[in-house]
Amino acid sequence: MYRKPASKLTPREQLHRQGYNFIAEDCSAAVKPCLWCKRAVRGGESCYKHQFYGIETAKCVQMTPTLRCNQRCIFCWRSIETEIEDSRILSPAEIIESIPALQRKGLSGDKPFADKAFWEEATTHPTQFAVSLSGEPTLYPHLPELIERLKEGDHSVFVVSNGTVPEMVRKIAPTQLYLSLDAVDAESYAEICNPIGDAEYMWQNVLTSLALLKQKEAEGVRTAVRITLVAGCNDSVPEKFAKIIDDTQPMYVEIKGYMYLGYSRMRLSETAVPDMNAIRRFASAVADACRYEIMDENEPSRVVCLRRRKI
Ligand code: SF4
Repeated sequence: MYRKPASKLTPREQLHRQGYNFIAEDCSAAVKPCLWCKRAVRGGESCYKHQFYGIETAKCVQMTPTLRCNQRCIFCWRSIETEIEDSRILSPAEIIESIPALQRKGLSGDKPFADKAFWEEATTHPTQFAVSLSGEPTLYPHLPELIERLKEGDHSVFVVSNGTVPEMVRKIAPTQLYLSLDAVDAESYAEICNPIGDAEYMWQNVLTSLALLKQKEAEGVRTAVRITLVAGCNDSVPEKFAKIIDDTQPMYVEIKGYMYLGYSRMRLSETAVPDMNAIRRFASAVADACRYEIMDENEPSRVVCLRRRKI
Protein backbone atom coordinates (compact mmCIF):
# COMPACT_ATOMS: atom_id res chain seq x y z
CA MET A 1 0.00 0.00 0.00
CA TYR A 2 2.81 2.42 0.87
CA ARG A 3 5.55 3.71 -1.37
CA LYS A 4 8.86 4.40 0.38
CA PRO A 5 10.07 7.98 0.02
CA ALA A 6 12.87 8.02 -2.60
CA SER A 7 15.49 10.13 -0.88
CA LYS A 8 19.08 9.73 0.22
CA LEU A 9 18.46 12.06 3.15
CA THR A 10 17.75 10.60 6.57
CA PRO A 11 14.21 11.17 7.89
CA ARG A 12 15.60 13.76 10.29
CA GLU A 13 17.36 15.60 7.45
CA GLN A 14 14.21 15.49 5.33
CA LEU A 15 12.15 16.99 8.14
CA HIS A 16 14.79 19.63 8.75
CA ARG A 17 14.49 20.64 5.09
CA GLN A 18 10.74 20.92 5.59
CA GLY A 19 11.27 23.47 8.35
CA TYR A 20 11.34 21.30 11.48
CA ASN A 21 13.87 22.59 13.98
CA PHE A 22 14.77 19.88 16.46
CA ILE A 23 15.38 20.80 20.07
CA ALA A 24 18.25 18.29 20.25
CA GLU A 25 19.78 15.84 17.82
CA ASP A 26 18.96 12.80 19.95
CA CYS A 27 15.26 13.51 20.38
CA SER A 28 12.30 14.25 18.14
CA ALA A 29 10.89 17.26 20.00
CA ALA A 30 10.60 20.02 17.41
CA VAL A 31 9.31 23.51 16.60
CA LYS A 32 8.01 24.53 13.18
CA PRO A 33 6.06 27.72 12.48
CA CYS A 34 3.02 26.92 10.34
CA LEU A 35 2.36 28.70 7.05
CA TRP A 36 -0.35 30.84 8.62
CA CYS A 37 2.04 32.04 11.32
CA LYS A 38 4.60 32.92 8.65
CA ARG A 39 1.94 34.79 6.71
CA ALA A 40 0.62 36.61 9.80
CA VAL A 41 4.06 37.67 11.00
CA ARG A 42 4.50 39.41 7.63
CA GLY A 43 1.27 41.30 8.32
CA GLY A 44 -0.91 38.93 6.25
CA GLU A 45 -4.00 36.89 7.03
CA SER A 46 -4.53 34.92 10.23
CA CYS A 47 -5.58 31.29 10.52
CA TYR A 48 -8.99 29.82 11.28
CA LYS A 49 -8.12 29.44 14.97
CA HIS A 50 -7.98 33.23 15.14
CA GLN A 51 -11.39 33.40 13.49
CA PHE A 52 -12.97 30.67 15.67
CA TYR A 53 -11.21 31.09 19.02
CA GLY A 54 -9.40 34.43 18.92
CA ILE A 55 -5.80 33.20 19.11
CA GLU A 56 -3.07 35.51 17.77
CA THR A 57 -1.68 33.67 14.75
CA ALA A 58 1.60 35.61 14.57
CA LYS A 59 2.26 34.79 18.22
CA CYS A 60 1.49 31.07 17.98
CA VAL A 61 4.27 28.51 18.44
CA GLN A 62 3.60 25.16 16.78
CA MET A 63 5.62 22.45 18.45
CA THR A 64 5.67 18.85 19.58
CA PRO A 65 7.46 17.10 22.45
CA THR A 66 7.73 13.97 20.28
CA LEU A 67 7.28 12.97 16.65
CA ARG A 68 6.64 9.37 17.62
CA CYS A 69 3.14 8.12 17.04
CA ASN A 70 1.22 4.94 17.74
CA GLN A 71 -0.99 5.39 14.68
CA ARG A 72 -0.16 5.59 11.00
CA CYS A 73 -3.17 7.43 9.65
CA ILE A 74 -3.49 7.22 5.88
CA PHE A 75 -4.00 10.99 5.67
CA CYS A 76 -1.02 11.95 7.88
CA TRP A 77 1.38 14.31 6.17
CA ARG A 78 4.39 13.00 8.10
CA SER A 79 6.44 10.03 6.95
CA ILE A 80 4.79 7.16 8.80
CA GLU A 81 6.95 4.76 6.82
CA THR A 82 10.07 5.88 8.69
CA GLU A 83 9.97 6.73 12.38
CA ILE A 84 12.27 9.18 14.10
CA GLU A 85 13.47 7.70 17.33
CA ASP A 86 13.73 9.52 20.64
CA SER A 87 16.91 8.18 22.21
CA ARG A 88 16.54 10.76 24.99
CA ILE A 89 13.43 12.17 26.62
CA LEU A 90 13.86 15.90 27.23
CA SER A 91 12.57 17.55 30.37
CA PRO A 92 9.85 20.23 30.05
CA ALA A 93 12.46 22.82 31.10
CA GLU A 94 14.82 21.79 28.29
CA ILE A 95 12.01 22.06 25.75
CA ILE A 96 10.72 25.41 26.99
CA GLU A 97 14.19 26.97 27.12
CA SER A 98 14.78 26.07 23.48
CA ILE A 99 11.51 27.32 22.05
CA PRO A 100 12.20 31.09 21.64
CA ALA A 101 15.42 30.61 19.64
CA LEU A 102 13.87 27.91 17.44
CA GLN A 103 10.75 29.98 16.78
CA ARG A 104 12.91 32.93 15.77
CA LYS A 105 15.01 30.66 13.57
CA GLY A 106 11.88 29.24 11.92
CA LEU A 107 10.59 32.74 11.18
CA SER A 108 13.95 34.30 10.26
CA GLY A 109 13.20 34.04 6.52
CA ASP A 110 10.08 36.16 7.05
CA LYS A 111 11.87 38.94 8.91
CA PRO A 112 12.90 40.92 5.79
CA PHE A 113 9.23 41.01 4.69
CA ALA A 114 7.79 41.94 8.08
CA ASP A 115 7.48 45.10 10.12
CA LYS A 116 10.60 44.78 12.30
CA ALA A 117 8.95 45.83 15.56
CA PHE A 118 6.03 43.44 14.93
CA TRP A 119 8.37 40.56 14.06
CA GLU A 120 10.37 41.19 17.27
CA GLU A 121 7.25 41.38 19.40
CA ALA A 122 5.64 38.27 17.84
CA THR A 123 8.75 36.12 18.15
CA THR A 124 9.82 37.36 21.58
CA HIS A 125 6.43 37.20 23.29
CA PRO A 126 4.36 34.30 21.98
CA THR A 127 0.90 34.04 23.52
CA GLN A 128 -0.18 30.63 22.23
CA PHE A 129 1.38 27.17 22.02
CA ALA A 130 -0.09 24.59 19.66
CA VAL A 131 1.12 21.17 20.75
CA SER A 132 0.01 19.71 17.48
CA LEU A 133 2.82 19.71 14.96
CA SER A 134 2.95 15.98 14.30
CA GLY A 135 3.39 12.85 16.40
CA GLU A 136 1.24 11.94 19.40
CA PRO A 137 1.93 14.26 22.36
CA THR A 138 0.40 11.93 24.97
CA LEU A 139 3.34 9.55 24.36
CA TYR A 140 5.60 12.17 25.97
CA PRO A 141 5.73 11.13 29.63
CA HIS A 142 6.02 14.68 31.06
CA LEU A 143 3.13 16.20 29.09
CA PRO A 144 1.10 17.40 32.13
CA GLU A 145 4.07 19.37 33.48
CA LEU A 146 5.01 20.68 30.03
CA ILE A 147 1.47 22.05 29.56
CA GLU A 148 1.42 23.64 33.02
CA ARG A 149 4.74 25.38 32.38
CA LEU A 150 3.72 26.53 28.91
CA LYS A 151 0.54 28.05 30.39
CA GLU A 152 2.53 30.19 32.85
CA GLY A 153 2.26 33.91 32.09
CA ASP A 154 -1.31 33.53 30.78
CA HIS A 155 -0.36 31.70 27.59
CA SER A 156 -2.97 29.52 25.94
CA VAL A 157 -2.07 25.94 25.09
CA PHE A 158 -3.92 23.84 22.51
CA VAL A 159 -3.21 20.11 22.47
CA VAL A 160 -4.23 17.77 19.66
CA SER A 161 -4.30 14.08 20.58
CA ASN A 162 -5.40 10.92 18.85
CA GLY A 163 -6.95 9.81 22.16
CA THR A 164 -5.20 6.44 22.33
CA VAL A 165 -3.71 7.08 25.79
CA PRO A 166 -6.68 7.89 28.04
CA GLU A 167 -4.60 7.72 31.22
CA MET A 168 -2.62 10.72 29.93
CA VAL A 169 -5.76 12.51 28.66
CA ARG A 170 -7.07 12.21 32.22
CA LYS A 171 -4.01 14.05 33.61
CA ILE A 172 -3.67 17.01 31.25
CA ALA A 173 -5.34 20.42 31.47
CA PRO A 174 -4.56 22.50 28.36
CA THR A 175 -6.63 25.56 27.42
CA GLN A 176 -8.19 23.58 24.61
CA LEU A 177 -8.02 19.84 24.08
CA TYR A 178 -8.68 18.35 20.67
CA LEU A 179 -9.34 14.66 20.27
CA SER A 180 -9.27 13.23 16.77
CA LEU A 181 -12.20 11.13 15.63
CA ASP A 182 -11.65 9.81 12.12
CA ALA A 183 -13.56 6.53 12.21
CA VAL A 184 -16.80 5.22 13.65
CA ASP A 185 -15.94 1.67 14.76
CA ALA A 186 -12.95 -0.62 15.28
CA GLU A 187 -13.00 -1.83 11.70
CA SER A 188 -12.95 1.59 10.04
CA TYR A 189 -10.47 2.79 12.69
CA ALA A 190 -8.07 -0.02 11.70
CA GLU A 191 -8.34 0.95 8.03
CA ILE A 192 -8.03 4.71 8.40
CA CYS A 193 -5.78 5.13 11.44
CA ASN A 194 -3.60 2.00 11.17
CA PRO A 195 -2.84 1.74 14.89
CA ILE A 196 0.31 0.02 16.02
CA GLY A 197 -0.98 -2.85 18.11
CA ASP A 198 -4.42 -4.34 18.56
CA ALA A 199 -6.95 -2.13 16.72
CA GLU A 200 -9.91 -3.13 18.90
CA TYR A 201 -7.96 -2.26 22.08
CA MET A 202 -6.76 1.06 20.64
CA TRP A 203 -10.27 1.96 19.43
CA GLN A 204 -11.65 1.30 22.91
CA ASN A 205 -8.95 3.66 24.24
CA VAL A 206 -10.10 6.35 21.80
CA LEU A 207 -13.69 5.93 23.02
CA THR A 208 -12.52 6.06 26.65
CA SER A 209 -10.70 9.34 25.97
CA LEU A 210 -13.76 10.78 24.23
CA ALA A 211 -15.86 9.81 27.22
CA LEU A 212 -13.52 11.93 29.38
CA LEU A 213 -14.41 15.14 27.54
CA LYS A 214 -17.29 16.06 29.86
CA GLN A 215 -14.95 15.71 32.84
CA LYS A 216 -12.29 17.80 31.09
CA GLU A 217 -14.84 20.55 30.44
CA ALA A 218 -15.85 20.47 34.13
CA GLU A 219 -12.14 20.99 34.93
CA GLY A 220 -12.15 24.19 32.82
CA VAL A 221 -10.67 22.77 29.61
CA ARG A 222 -12.33 23.76 26.32
CA THR A 223 -12.99 20.58 24.39
CA ALA A 224 -13.09 19.87 20.68
CA VAL A 225 -13.35 16.84 18.44
CA ARG A 226 -11.60 16.99 15.10
CA ILE A 227 -12.74 14.91 12.17
CA THR A 228 -10.40 14.78 9.16
CA LEU A 229 -12.75 14.13 6.29
CA VAL A 230 -11.28 11.95 3.53
CA ALA A 231 -13.43 11.61 0.41
CA GLY A 232 -14.41 8.03 -0.35
CA CYS A 233 -13.05 6.91 3.00
CA ASN A 234 -14.96 8.23 6.04
CA ASP A 235 -17.42 10.67 4.48
CA SER A 236 -20.45 8.40 4.03
CA VAL A 237 -21.54 7.92 7.66
CA PRO A 238 -22.21 11.36 9.22
CA GLU A 239 -24.97 9.91 11.42
CA LYS A 240 -22.49 7.45 13.01
CA PHE A 241 -20.08 10.29 13.78
CA ALA A 242 -23.05 12.27 15.15
CA LYS A 243 -23.92 9.43 17.53
CA ILE A 244 -20.41 9.42 19.05
CA ILE A 245 -20.41 13.21 19.27
CA ASP A 246 -23.81 13.26 20.94
CA ASP A 247 -22.64 10.67 23.46
CA THR A 248 -19.43 12.52 24.35
CA GLN A 249 -20.56 16.18 24.07
CA PRO A 250 -17.44 18.15 23.10
CA MET A 251 -17.94 21.92 23.08
CA TYR A 252 -16.82 22.13 19.44
CA VAL A 253 -16.49 19.80 16.49
CA GLU A 254 -14.12 20.78 13.70
CA ILE A 255 -14.72 19.00 10.43
CA LYS A 256 -11.62 19.51 8.38
CA GLY A 257 -11.09 18.36 4.83
CA TYR A 258 -8.08 16.19 4.10
CA MET A 259 -5.32 18.19 2.37
CA TYR A 260 -3.18 16.56 -0.30
CA LEU A 261 0.13 17.35 1.41
CA GLY A 262 3.48 15.88 2.39
CA TYR A 263 3.87 12.13 2.60
CA SER A 264 0.10 11.49 2.47
CA ARG A 265 0.43 11.95 -1.31
CA MET A 266 2.17 8.57 -1.39
CA ARG A 267 -0.91 6.88 0.11
CA LEU A 268 -3.89 8.81 -1.23
CA SER A 269 -4.75 10.47 -4.52
CA GLU A 270 -6.10 13.98 -5.01
CA THR A 271 -9.60 12.53 -5.32
CA ALA A 272 -9.50 11.96 -1.55
CA VAL A 273 -9.65 15.74 -1.04
CA PRO A 274 -13.29 16.73 -0.36
CA ASP A 275 -14.42 20.04 -1.82
CA MET A 276 -15.81 22.72 0.47
CA ASN A 277 -19.41 21.96 -0.44
CA ALA A 278 -18.91 18.30 0.47
CA ILE A 279 -17.45 19.36 3.85
CA ARG A 280 -20.43 21.70 4.40
CA ARG A 281 -22.91 18.94 3.51
CA PHE A 282 -21.21 16.46 5.85
CA ALA A 283 -21.06 19.06 8.66
CA SER A 284 -24.77 19.87 8.24
CA ALA A 285 -25.66 16.18 8.26
CA VAL A 286 -23.70 15.68 11.51
CA ALA A 287 -25.26 18.78 13.11
CA ASP A 288 -28.77 17.72 12.08
CA ALA A 289 -28.29 14.29 13.64
CA CYS A 290 -27.16 15.56 17.06
CA ARG A 291 -27.48 18.52 19.36
CA TYR A 292 -25.03 20.74 17.46
CA GLU A 293 -25.20 23.74 15.13
CA ILE A 294 -22.88 25.29 12.56
CA MET A 295 -20.78 27.94 14.31
CA ASP A 296 -18.48 29.11 11.52
CA GLU A 297 -16.42 27.98 8.56
CA ASN A 298 -13.12 28.86 6.94
CA GLU A 299 -12.74 27.98 3.29
CA PRO A 300 -8.95 28.43 2.89
CA SER A 301 -8.41 25.85 5.66
CA ARG A 302 -11.35 23.71 4.48
CA VAL A 303 -12.91 23.57 7.91
CA VAL A 304 -16.42 23.88 9.29
CA CYS A 305 -16.87 24.30 13.05
CA LEU A 306 -19.93 23.03 14.94
CA ARG A 307 -20.77 23.99 18.48
CA ARG A 308 -23.00 22.33 21.00
CA ARG A 309 -26.49 23.81 21.05
CA LYS A 310 -27.64 25.48 24.25
CA ILE A 311 -30.63 23.58 25.54
S1 SF4 B 1 -2.33 10.38 14.95
FE1 SF4 B 1 -1.65 12.30 14.02
S2 SF4 B 1 0.60 12.15 13.92
FE2 SF4 B 1 -0.21 10.07 14.32
S3 SF4 B 1 -0.34 9.15 12.29
FE3 SF4 B 1 -2.36 10.04 12.77
S4 SF4 B 1 -2.32 12.12 11.87
FE4 SF4 B 1 -0.19 11.38 11.98
